[in-house]
Amino acid sequence: MTFGNRQFRVDGGCPFPEAGSIYVTLCLDMQIFCDFDGTITNRDSIVFLTETFGAGEQFRLDILEAIKRGDITVFEAIERELETVKATWAEAVSALDESVWIDPDFPAFVTWCSERNFPLSIVSSGMAPVVEHYVGRFGVPVFAHPVTVDPAGWRYRRDERNDKKHLLAAASREKPLVFIGDGTSDVSAVPYADILFARSGFFLSEHCSRQGIAHYTFTSFREIRKQLDALLSVEA
Ligand SMILES: [Mg+2]
Repeated sequence: MTFGNRQFRVDGGCPFPEAGSIYVTLCLDMQIFCDFDGTITNRDSIVFLTETFGAGEQFRLDILEAIKRGDITVFEAIERELETVKATWAEAVSALDESVWIDPDFPAFVTWCSERNFPLSIVSSGMAPVVEHYVGRFGVPVFAHPVTVDPAGWRYRRDERNDKKHLLAAASREKPLVFIGDGTSDVSAVPYADILFARSGFFLSEHCSRQGIAHYTFTSFREIRKQLDALLSVEA
């Protein structure tokens, strides 16, 4: 790891205290990218809508297996799940508001980033209107995908410009990058993360453990903040 020529990536994607002063310098200049569904929220809104207004749990589990086998992409999976969702926007929002909520520690995390001038962006493979519904008020840049809400079946469309893989690949050339995620759609972001957080007990953390990819696990944004504070406070 050499900072001078910007080769700051640490093998395995996660710096450790023994990296010393270089490591501190890295962390003082980080940018933070965060998944939305199941990362900022207690549960995935697409999963919730599919199970509540769509084809149900078994259908979703079959789709998940198809992703794991590599038969379909994450985007195809979302498209297939949402086309089974038969609900109006008002019905969906009312149900979502009762069952899906953001981590109560997320607002403080937004403030923490802003106070330190760490740019925070939300990169979601999910639906832009749903992400905006929950986090629009924070004024944080949101990258997500359009959906046409139709009571006969929702039509999701991938916007390539907002693909987290492309966004992170470009951003990782600029400065050290922290990524926070939980699920299948976050695997594509892993190669670009210098510091990686994966929600404990979910797909991304299990994937990283299987593949020997260094990562921190978390259950709340308070833990993420504490871990980043610990990294920042390491003596040079
Ligand atoms: Mg997610």
